[in-house]
Amino acid sequence: MNVVADGGNKKTSRVRVAVRLRPYMDKQDEKGEGPCVRGLDSQNLEIINWRNATETVKYHFDVFHGEQTTQQQVFLSSVKPILPHILTGQNASVFAYGPTGAGKTHTMLGSSEKPGVIPRAVQEVFNLVKAKDEDEGWDYNIDMSYMEIYNEKVLDLLSPSAQDLPIREDKDKNIFIPGLTRTTISSFSDFDKHFVPASLNRTTASTKLNQRSSRSHAILLIKVVRTERSLPHRQQTGKLYLVDLAGSEDNRRTGNRGIRLKESGAINLSLFTLSKVVDSLNSGTAIRVPYRDSKLTRLLQDSLGGSAHSVMITNIAPEYKYYFDTFSALNFAAKSKLIVNKPFTRETVAVPVLPVKRTREDQEAGGSGNEPQKKKQKEERKSEQDGSSPSAHFHSLSEPSVMDRLIALEKLMMSCQDKDRITMLKDVAQSRKEIQELKEKQREFESKALLLSRLAREKSSTKEEAVFKNNTAPLQRKQSNPTKPNKQQAVVQPLQVSQLQPLQQLAVCKKQSVCVKKKEKKLSDQVEPPDGKENAENDWEFQLETSVLELSRQKILQVLNSGSLKELKGLQQIGDKKAKLILGWREIHGHFTKLEDLLKVEGMTAKRFSSFMKANILSAMGK
Ligand code: ADP
Ligand code: MG
Repeated sequence: MNVVADGGNKKTSRVRVAVRLRPYMDKQDEKGEGPCVRGLDSQNLEIINWRNATETVKYHFDVFHGEQTTQQQVFLSSVKPILPHILTGQNASVFAYGPTGAGKTHTMLGSSEKPGVIPRAVQEVFNLVKAKDEDEGWDYNIDMSYMEIYNEKVLDLLSPSAQDLPIREDKDKNIFIPGLTRTTISSFSDFDKHFVPASLNRTTASTKLNQRSSRSHAILLIKVVRTERSLPHRQQTGKLYLVDLAGSEDNRRTGNRGIRLKESGAINLSLFTLSKVVDSLNSGTAIRVPYRDSKLTRLLQDSLGGSAHSVMITNIAPEYKYYFDTFSALNFAAKSKLIVNKPFTRETVAVPVLPVKRTREDQEAGGSGNEPQKKKQKEERKSEQDGSSPSAHFHSLSEPSVMDRLIALEKLMMSCQDKDRITMLKDVAQSRKEIQELKEKQREFESKALLLSRLAREKSSTKEEAVFKNNTAPLQRKQSNPTKPNKQQAVVQPLQVSQLQPLQQLAVCKKQSVCVKKKEKKLSDQVEPPDGKENAENDWEFQLETSVLELSRQKILQVLNSGSLKELKGLQQIGDKKAKLILGWREIHGHFTKLEDLLKVEGMTAKRFSSFMKANILSAMGK
């Protein structure tokens, strides 16, 4: 039975939200790009505003743990204080949220040198019980259960043969799982003895080790049952859930490698529902907290909100490649906190680091639309302002369709409470993926261009030089970068500079893709180190009229996007298997925006793509 906390007059208690930023994993990256997010003090952090690189978005949390924070500090500030409650029949939960690679497992489990929350909490529970033993008339019994939620199924990790366990509620509204193994533990080493092999069960249960562990929720339950020694032998049960959540990134991001729809949907459902639950609890306005909408929240129902003590540690990473995952993780975490979100003041952004000229109106607007977390009422007014200017200046910065979509998504995100949020988060992740891919391509082009121009020089072949000159476009990025931060003026400089790079790269990529011939040339360049033979082989495109070529490409794209299985198989070099993979890709990602998206389909190497293009374009033209 739970004792009602907070003086007994509170129906629900807030979920405390901590954010932990992990250090860079690679010192090179740190030097190279600088972080996209950083702490300001023990409660605030800022992240570069993707809508305007001269601004950052600030967030306020219960606690911010910077990259130097030790495991011990995280434990002391976020976890230790709630533990005494479970000895008095109250429930508690600690869960680590965030994208894969941001440090959830490090935070929860840690390593033998740097033990995380789980070992420390278990040790502390034993300490607390030990300290109690003598003076009060209670006997304490501690047991553990360890489970995993994968694909909306509850699996018992202490007894791996138990699959898909049901979740039930007793008449006192306690949640329990009939059939779940409960192992009594009498010491920390006892715990370790059971926990370690069970953890192995988790990861060895699947051949796709990493994928599975990043898509499942690992839930350790420590139960403290205390029984009064004298009559009437009252009994109280306190539960502590320690949860390493599934990665919050959009699982479809890896979908181009064949992820099953059901799986990604299920994981999103649990995390999505968790976000709704946390939202409802923390806003205090929800009439109904939607615990029942997913297994995870149903399981945590009596230990999240209500009289329970809950802490969410949102893990984030500093690298740019995590930007959108970080952004959405922060929004999830902060939404429940009514974010404090201020634009940088004019003085701090005075240095013109953007390669685009901002119009006077833009500047006067003082970074319009950099407040993604404002409340609904303000939002409506703002979105009108935002309608033109940010997209206008981002157009010149980057690939328009991606940025437009981000802007639209952000607006929606701000105005929509939760209903469509999952779709939007997915779309944000998708856009992020596109940006990442463009960046990667760009990088490839850059290195290729360097190599080739060197080669070209060696051969002093004028033709090649002309072709590859275009490939060196990204180097412009470097030319525009000398707008080095002026340390005296700009507090946010390191963030600004790094933001420029991806955006500029995008702009460059887009321009290239407009030129069909050159784009194709480059694509074929990606296949193999281009030598004379390779180039000659790909010259077929150069003999075609651009407009005719474009028309053929459109035709193929149309078949890819709307063709039936049969029609897909009608394409050159597309057999039954490929056609099905294309259909599957379409189901997950919507549609192919360009033919090059085919490269994301499983098994479609650049070489195959190149050959596919050649065969189909020639076929479309009747050659
Ligand atoms: P997740 O569980 O969120 O996927 P991990 O905990 O596996 O992420 O972290 C990814 C990598 O980063 C691991 O190598 C981990 O040891 C390291 N790491 C994470 N957080 C920290 C930290 N605070 N300090 C040092 N290394 C960390
Ligand atoms: Mg992990």
